[in-house]
Amino acid sequence: MAYVKKCPDCKGKSYSASKKKWVCPYCGEDLKKIEANRAKN
Ligand SMILES: [Zn+2]
Repeated sequence: MAYVKKCPDCKGKSYSASKKKWVCPYCGEDLKKIEANRAKN
């Protein structure tokens, strides 16, 4: 299962298998308070 979050700061999408400790890989924003969605292909 993978999750996706959209960074509110840089609008970049990041994917993770876990919802723990999620930091935007583009700008370093802490995304833990952002709602995670299930990644669909
Ligand atoms: Zn970002």
